Amino acid sequence: MSNDERTFIAIKPDGVARGLVGEIISRFQRKGYTLVGLKQVVPSKDLAESHYEEHKERPFFSGLVSFITSGPVVAMVWEGKGSIAMARAMIGATNPLASAPGTIRGDFGVDVGRNIIHGSDSADSAKREIALWFKSCELLTEVVRSSNLYVPSL
Ligand code: UDP
Repeated sequence: MSNDERTFIAIKPDGVARGLVGEIISRFQRKGYTLVGLKQVVPSKDLAESHYEEHKERPFFSGLVSFITSGPVVAMVWEGKGSIAMARAMIGATNPLASAPGTIRGDFGVDVGRNIIHGSDSADSAKREIALWFKSCELLTEVVRSSNLYVPSL
């Protein structure tokens, strides 16, 4: 299992509006993952439709796109062993009411349409979503992380 597995995580507008950004970042950091990309954006309709393109025929698609574009989203790339599957486990089931307490959705939500956070569901999705949301120059490389530019020493 590789130490540099990367997954795409997005805190949706409800999670940002409810002040859950710090809590969520803290959970991934305490688990042992490394934040290699982070930005806050209000996604364009194009970006939202591309991100959720697998759902374009579903009845909830237009509501989902309107919601995701309605305010700031905190987009992140997290790196570490098993990060794709572990992030999904930490996030919980799609419907927060079916998510176990202890998961992010299980602890903080009750509505499937306001389920706080997105996480890539496979290696292929992670690759696609990271490329969709981030330019490669916006992600830390091994060189930066292992140098003293990353953790300033005084
Ligand atoms: N969604 C919704 N209604 C539904 C199913 C899904 O609003 O009946 C939204 C919900 O925000 C979910 C997103 O569509 O997170 C993508 O659905 P998916 O099945 O990929 O769930 P996820 O991978 O986010 O758990």
